[in-house]
Amino acid sequence: MKIRSVLLLALATLAACSRPNPNPASLIFINGKVWTGTDSSSFVQAVAIRGDTIMATGTTAEIAALTGDSTRIVDLQGRLLIPGFNDAHIHFLGGSIGLTEVDLTGQNTIANVVKTIKRFAAENPDKKWITGRGWQYTMFEGGLPTKEILDSAISDRPVFIRAYDGHSAWANSAALKAANITPATRFPGFGEIVKSQGKLTGVFKEDAMDVVSNVIPPLSTEEKLNALRKGIQLATSYGITSLTNCSGSPEELQLYRQLLDRGELPIRVAATFSVDDKTTFQQIERYTQIKDSVGRNNRLTSAGVKFMLDGVIESHTAGMLMPYSNLVPGEPSPTGNLSMPVERYRELVREFDKRGFMIYTHAIGDRAVREALNAYEYAGNDNGTAGKTRHRIEHIETVSPDDLPRFADLGVLPSMEPIHAEPGTVSVWADGVGKDRLPWSFAWASMLKANAHLVYSSDWPACVALNPIRGLHTAVTRRTIDGLPEGGWVPEQRIPITDALIAYTQGGAWSSFEENKKGRIATGQLADVIVLSQDLFSIDPMKTHETQVLMTVIGGQVIFEKADPQP
Ligand SMILES: [Zn+2]
Repeated sequence: MKIRSVLLLALATLAACSRPNPNPASLIFINGKVWTGTDSSSFVQAVAIRGDTIMATGTTAEIAALTGDSTRIVDLQGRLLIPGFNDAHIHFLGGSIGLTEVDLTGQNTIANVVKTIKRFAAENPDKKWITGRGWQYTMFEGGLPTKEILDSAISDRPVFIRAYDGHSAWANSAALKAANITPATRFPGFGEIVKSQGKLTGVFKEDAMDVVSNVIPPLSTEEKLNALRKGIQLATSYGITSLTNCSGSPEELQLYRQLLDRGELPIRVAATFSVDDKTTFQQIERYTQIKDSVGRNNRLTSAGVKFMLDGVIESHTAGMLMPYSNLVPGEPSPTGNLSMPVERYRELVREFDKRGFMIYTHAIGDRAVREALNAYEYAGNDNGTAGKTRHRIEHIETVSPDDLPRFADLGVLPSMEPIHAEPGTVSVWADGVGKDRLPWSFAWASMLKANAHLVYSSDWPACVALNPIRGLHTAVTRRTIDGLPEGGWVPEQRIPITDALIAYTQGGAWSSFEENKKGRIATGQLADVIVLSQDLFSIDPMKTHETQVLMTVIGGQVIFEKADPQP
């Protein structure tokens, strides 16, 4: 088989030499298994790239015939080549800055957490504040840490570390002092300065985290650009070729712009502006101007706005239709809360919809999900945009079965993170949701069955991993990489690898109206492709997490390559 392929290649190259190819490919992949992205049986052997686009797909012989003098030929030796990953919901600046901070991801004992923080502090003696993220609720008695644990690690410098989901943070006594917080300090907004028997615990929920984070000295532009460079390097090494930054500001957009102008933005970025109930008419007008001036191009766009409509299940800040299942006596909001009045949210949605923005709404509780669907429906009817928009709801960790058909009916996209259902991190979550609602937990299969356009992403750094492969593993198994629980957690919601890949490649392209440009391997599509170490379509799904990205090509340029991709 291999000898025959090489022979074909030799013949084709010979043909190309004797009669110079007028339009040669710049890069070709041959002898592979190329998933073109349409369905579970759409495979070809080879693909040719010229400039930044896919020139042709076909058999190795057909593609080898497109070789010219300067064509780079990659022999895939049977390996899988697929469209690049499109991470449709990510917090890229925060995640990238996190690469320069303490990282508690994957730590599951208090002793290890203390050790990691101590080591980081010793390695970074010049940092005035120790900041970072990644702790898990499940590690602590009652689901929340205490300042005393942090004090035992570091007492002479302020420490402020966010939870893995970014919705709570943990401070030591020095940080509380630096922010002038006493047991008498009150926080009136969405969130909480957590106290126990009148004493500060060092834990902050939601917007109350700002009380501390506002006193942390800001990074310089150059420090931020450096962090982004690290982030881009990591993302492309995981095969991410496009991303949608699901939070941000005009200032953050400027950072991407600077990288683009310096030729340092190989990855395709869609920047989004965070908006909330305090967003003014002037800001709406400003964002509209920026959207129109950035325009639609293949590298950097800015056409989305992101709302937060509720919080998270674990801290009972997600807005539910029915009370949480693990309420403690006297809890003030048994069904959680929405983070802004519904009327104000609808009004803002209508304004952004009218101006042609793509709207992304964070809604985790089933009530918040319903209100987001309602708001999109009203806006579509009011503005005459119904059927023309692709607004999204982000996360949808719980959903009422009554609302499932509305996604397809309204053209609203469920934008979800498979890694959020990683069974190792869901015990506190599952207690809050309770057994009656559990069948619609992270309901990917139900969404597909309801004909919704599922969009996948990482939500990095608000989760365990940026690596899409880890998300795919959870999508197809609903088990940890160690195989727990046997049989899978809410296994009826796992989905086949083809659907998971479509959600992680074409999902984001569809959401940004770019399905004719990217997400598939077809003539005329942008040449964003990746080579994987194993065939996701034929391996035991439990081995999915072992898959490595060997090569990442964006716009025909090889951006990442493992030292020796051809063993
Ligand atoms: Zn997010």
